[in-house]
Amino acid sequence: MNCRICNNSNLKKFLSLGVQPLANSFLSKDQLNDSEPKFPLELCFCEHCKLVQLSYAVEPEKMFRNYFYVSSTTKTFVQHFTGMAESITREFHLGKNSLAVDIGSNDGLLVRAFKNQGVMAIGIEPAENLARMANQEGAETINDFFSEKSAEEILRRKGKADIITANNVFAHINDIHEAARNVKMLLKDNGAYIIEVQYMADMLEKMTFDNVYHEHLSYYTLISLRNFFEKQGMRIFRAERVDTHGGSIRVYAALQGSAHREDPSVEELLRHEKSIGADKCETYTAFADKVNGTKKKLTDCLREIREKGKKTAGYGAPAKSSTLLNFCGIGRDEIEFIIEDNPMKVGLFTPGTHIPIKNPVAIEEQKPDYILILAWNFATEILSKTTSLRDKGTKFIIPLPNLRIE
Ligand SMILES: [Zn+2]
Repeated sequence: MNCRICNNSNLKKFLSLGVQPLANSFLSKDQLNDSEPKFPLELCFCEHCKLVQLSYAVEPEKMFRNYFYVSSTTKTFVQHFTGMAESITREFHLGKNSLAVDIGSNDGLLVRAFKNQGVMAIGIEPAENLARMANQEGAETINDFFSEKSAEEILRRKGKADIITANNVFAHINDIHEAARNVKMLLKDNGAYIIEVQYMADMLEKMTFDNVYHEHLSYYTLISLRNFFEKQGMRIFRAERVDTHGGSIRVYAALQGSAHREDPSVEELLRHEKSIGADKCETYTAFADKVNGTKKKLTDCLREIREKGKKTAGYGAPAKSSTLLNFCGIGRDEIEFIIEDNPMKVGLFTPGTHIPIKNPVAIEEQKPDYILILAWNFATEILSKTTSLRDKGTKFIIPLPNLRIE
């Protein structure tokens, strides 16, 4: 496989997380005896453009046509995207004649947030279940992948866009050059293309390697993003770190001739990345060693608990939990069940590891001694709503960034 940004064929493999099932392919009871499709999950580094990427790309139709991840189920995200729509509307002086387009709009959370700001907005979402939910909730949504065809449809329906957002989808796109051509077709001369994507520098600094799964084909730094946008005749004029998904970066890009002036944040972040060696292959090799060390600590911890005859349950079954569980070989011997707030997942089993997912009341009924927080980026939220359990002696294991028990 060649580099997604610069087509280099000599990519350096630095971390293997094994052969894994798709992180969102939860199983029903009937499917437990079927063979599960599994694919290599390995990270590579491109020494030319500095992009970190998967060695193997699963076909998007297998991953995104039916999707479990619903933004609006998480309070943190509702606040995050409401705030994002407010700040973009204010800073870019959007009004009732402005258009915001959201790529990979999920259940329409950001589309609705822009509408609430009095801005016209439309979403594009490949998952049929989510696009249907969005349209029912008043967020106009085209059910498709972002392609030339769907970009043309938006042009026909709404005209050119002032703002195009792509939150947590940029890493999902295999042909990012094609997506950028479609963005350029759709964007006004002084428009802004704002992407929010998991940040490779955070992964290095906070050990968030469970964000690696087949849906995320690329792991960006500002260095690699700048190399990408340069190839597309676009430029980044602002960059900021945001705290979603264990650490993300929000990057503002514009057409080369636009009036947007470059903010000092771009230079600052580039400097930071160089200071942590995000442009060097040996940094990633050292990271891989730490990841393997983390696996050992967590599996040792769970084995000791089991040897003492204590019971462990899991909290949250986000896609990232699949990476962690499969990579560490944690199954039903270590974790009896996982509780999950998203009702679409309750009653199903985790991909590869086949741990049953239950309604949150199960922890009150079964009273596990330990709870492994798999949705550990929400650990603060989870710990604050479970104080009564902790008062009764249940211990919580937070696996990342550093294993701790509370
Ligand atoms: Zn490259």
